[in-house]
Order: sequence, then C-alpha cells, then structure tokens
Amino acid sequence: MSHPDIATFDGTSPSVTGDWSGTCDAWGATGAAQPDALVPQIMLICEHASNATAPPWAQFDDAPAQMSAHVASDPGALGLARALGENLGRATGAAELVHAPLSRLIYDLNRSPERMDAMPSVSETFHITQNQGLDTAQRMARMQALYLPFHNHVRARIARALLLGTRPCIVTIHSFTPTWYGQPRDVEFGIIHDDAPEFAQAILAHSPDTGLTTRLNEPYSAADHVTHTLRLHALPYFLPNAMLELRNDLIASAAQQTDIAARLAPAILRAMQNVKDGPCPQP
Ligand SMILES: [Zn+2]
Repeated sequence: MSHPDIATFDGTSPSVTGDWSGTCDAWGATGAAQPDALVPQIMLICEHASNATAPPWAQFDDAPAQMSAHVASDPGALGLARALGENLGRATGAAELVHAPLSRLIYDLNRSPERMDAMPSVSETFHITQNQGLDTAQRMARMQALYLPFHNHVRARIARALLLGTRPCIVTIHSFTPTWYGQPRDVEFGIIHDDAPEFAQAILAHSPDTGLTTRLNEPYSAADHVTHTLRLHALPYFLPNAMLELRNDLIASAAQQTDIAARLAPAILRAMQNVKDGPCPQP
C-alpha cells in the first residue's frame, strides 16, 4: 500500500522540503477545518499512525501478517486521534493532528536516530527480515526521507502556533497490544510523561471519569525511549505535554474510537484548564 503524499519519493534524492501537508488535520468549533485557518490550543501527534509503505521500501508488503500487526503501526491510534481531535476542536475552537504517513518498520518516528530500534530487526516475537543487515547508507536514507521531514513538519506547526500567540498542549497518541510475549495486560489507558509531568498528572487526576483502568507510566515509560517526540518538541518550549497509550482492543472499530474519544476528551480538557490556571513556565 503506497502513501499518496510521498509515493513520488524516488529513493535517490531524499528531500526535507517535500509536501507533507496531507499528514496534518485540524478541527475547529464546527468540525473539520484547514490547518492554516486555525491556531491550535492542542496539538496531537501520531507517530505510529500508518502501516503504509512506499518505494523504495515496498519489500515490506511481502509480509502482510507483519504489516497488519502492532509492530508495523499502532492499530486504532489514527482513528482515535482523529475522533479526539474533533472533540477537542469543538470544545476549544482549534485542535490539530500531525500523523505519520508510513510504517514504523521503515523508520520509527518516535525514536532517536542513533537507536537501532528506529529501524527494528526484531520487535516482540516478530523478526523483521527487511531490516536485518541494514548498512549506514540505507539507515541514513530513511532518516533523511522520513525522520527529518516529519519532525521538521511538527516543528513548523508548533512554531507557527507559538508565533500566532498560543502555547499548545502537545499530546502524542499511541496504542499497545493486549498481550506482550503472551502475557495479558490489564491496564487500559496509560499516561506517560518525561521531565515535565504536570500535564500527565492532571490528566491522571481526571481519568476516573473515563471509566478506564488507568496508570501512570504504563505499559511504557520514558526509560523505554518512548518520549522522543515530547523531548524534541514540547520540552524545549516548556509546553504542557503527555503521551497517551490506549490498549488496542478497546479502539479496534470506528465506533469504539468514537466512544473512547468522547470519554477521554473531558479529562484532557479539564487538564488543559488546570495547567492554564497554574503557573506558566516560560522558556
Ligand atoms: Zn506507538
């Protein structure tokens, strides 16, 4: 499955200036909107939104079971992020979502370039044969084609919001698998933070209203290197930030995504109000 936005990439001339506009959605008080028509109060980021491939990485399509599994993307995360964006846009007047166009198996956009799991050759019980034995040039090409333009795009969207007078909350949206190495996970909603825990703690304080079994820093934490996007984009500007992880069996269908988004949105909105009412750290 190719992605229309970057399917024209030919693998020989990686560019950081391509058109990534198709990876940005926005919602205002009355529903979907053009991103540049709004100034977002909250920015959602979905680094594992897609299991799509594009040339020159179409070899991943030879393993359909792998590409439909959680190792290739976060099932349900994009649908949840969009439903959440619509809820938060209606409530705040402006919400924005930036989402990845290609599979995390080509480049995991929530990993720093020096990490081998940015292009994993093993993920849980899956052996990613397409990523075994990658040389430096191959890793460099993927970083230049995907990591740099994605994060440049996120950076540009946040810089735009700051320049236009808002300090948006930054929330990354992920999903996790109900079992891990055969062990069931009972946590349903994980809220993860890095060095600035205030917003995550505020969402946690309102999480009983969601009806979900919620835990802080589960099933992952910053020690697992999952807060890379927050470190790149939220912490330098002292923006309120958190990573949200939903168990993927709870957001498998569009109806479930709509339901969970409606349950999460009030907790997030109250947390946004809490951090606005609190002291405002400045860079
Ligand atoms: Zn994820």
